[in-house]
Amino acid sequence: MVGSVKENGNFDVLIIGCGIVGATIARELSRYTMKTAVLERASDIPFGASRANSSMIHGGFDDEPGSAKAKFCPAGNRMYHTLCEELDFKLRKFGSFVCARGESEERHLKKLYEQGKANGTVGMEIISGQKLREKEPNTSPEITAALWCESGAIVNNFEATLAFIDNARQNGVSLYMETEVTAIIFDESRSSVRGVSTNRGNFYAPVIINASGVYADVISRMVGDDSFIIHPTRGEYFIFDKAVGNFVTSFLFSCPSKLGKGITVTHTADDNLLIGPTSVEQDDRENRNTTASGLDETFEGAARLVPGIPRNMAITTFAGVRANISTGDFYIKALERPLGFINVAGIKSPGFTSAPAIALYVTELIRENLGDVVKFEKDPAFVPERKHIPRFIDLSAGERQRLAASDPKWGQIVCRCESVTEAQVVEAIRRGARTVAAVKLWVRPGTGRCQGGFCAPRVVEILARELGVSPLEITRHGGNSHMLTSRTKEPILQDLPGAPL
Ligand SMILES: Cc1cc2nc3c(=O)[nH]c(=O)nc-3n(C[C@H](O)[C@H](O)[C@H](O)COP(=O)(O)OP(=O)(O)OC[C@H]3O[C@@H](n4cnc5c(N)ncnc54)[C@H](O)[C@@H]3O)c2cc1C
Repeated sequence: MVGSVKENGNFDVLIIGCGIVGATIARELSRYTMKTAVLERASDIPFGASRANSSMIHGGFDDEPGSAKAKFCPAGNRMYHTLCEELDFKLRKFGSFVCARGESEERHLKKLYEQGKANGTVGMEIISGQKLREKEPNTSPEITAALWCESGAIVNNFEATLAFIDNARQNGVSLYMETEVTAIIFDESRSSVRGVSTNRGNFYAPVIINASGVYADVISRMVGDDSFIIHPTRGEYFIFDKAVGNFVTSFLFSCPSKLGKGITVTHTADDNLLIGPTSVEQDDRENRNTTASGLDETFEGAARLVPGIPRNMAITTFAGVRANISTGDFYIKALERPLGFINVAGIKSPGFTSAPAIALYVTELIRENLGDVVKFEKDPAFVPERKHIPRFIDLSAGERQRLAASDPKWGQIVCRCESVTEAQVVEAIRRGARTVAAVKLWVRPGTGRCQGGFCAPRVVEILARELGVSPLEITRHGGNSHMLTSRTKEPILQDLPGAPL
């Protein structure tokens, strides 16, 4: 019927946004029999800040004792060390160093050390510059001391976010992609929430969780709460070829300033070298462009920690946008009016680290404030473990042969840089990838030196075949981002004189 609104059914909880925060909350709620749906406006997961960040699992010494960040960060760090096994995502326990130059910065290291002790950070020690260089020989001779934190780790942020939502879905959570929340539906007196309107129709639930990252203030204003403003703040990065991945073997921070943790240099979970980010406030929530000046600043900042990084070994650049919040700390609050609306806002760094602990807290908030509208019955069918798609690049020769014998697609290399096989791409599609970018986030074709120059056409072909659509319909990241415009020679033939119209 023209003009009718599509009704997508009733749930107990709706989560707006499938970044690491929405995904960890969804997985936590999937332990119970309640019906949960996650609504995500993008075509790929992760999309927002969870896609473009430093991927550090912080030890927890950066934040003032008593703050929400100081509470959730060390707790999240501890959880990741077991969650990576349970959910099979890459986490590498490299440890981190905060590097000081001279007395004033060394005093700051002591402050961080004391903060860390108060926050429950484990494995810290202040060491001399010389000892740092024994571990990290490429660091600057001007560094006089460093704070070592053994519990600092680095994660594959794509795999981790996907792992939480993948396991949540296995346990019954519904995920709606390309579904943008545009308004909140209330009861008649506007005293409690009833659901949301989206570009795909209405969804109903008595509990709505706002985990929309840089849009958290926009969504919060939909229920009349304007108690905070998000200031999007962009950070630019370089990624370098794996050939120089071992320039450092851990995560190196500059001494933090008022602007944040500064430029860092790290060995990533997948053995690349990563440097960044800058910090530039902007009005645009979607601007993820890199700039010549931003990249110069990134490179110069990194060179103060690690001189001599070969710039010509960079394989790509990218930028992420932080959800800096006017109130400073994480803002996690169940509103009294309208009842049923929970803000999980201002989740900037160390938000990735804190997310699993935030998810536990939000679950308790629902139980305490809304326990009469949502039943907390443990689901006996809940399965906490899930397996990632086997990473061909990490398999032994024997394991590769065994897989290729079981299915020849394991013997077909699609991406040479990252040794990704056709079988991995097919499995990513089976688990929900619908775009070239989504396949890349799942199994990494296009993340190597050629940046998709060779493998992208193969990925388009496999996507089209598996989804049963024309290659012309395949997009890079949804919307109008089509990879192909027409079949080769077709437009030319049509343009020839005398060609049929
Ligand atoms: C440059 C940078 C470096 C960082 N480094 C680290 C680090 O090393 N360690 C660390 O712990 N943290 C780090 N962080 C912070 C961390 O990345 C964030 O705290 C975390 O990713 C926030 O997750 P989120 O789920 O709240 O937001 P997001 O990941 O932004 O997810 C929000 C989601 O909501 C969706 N959405 C928005 N509006 C709507 C709507 N109307 N309807 C439906 N969906 C909607 C978006 O598409 C998006 O997918 C960094 C962040 C940045 C930007």
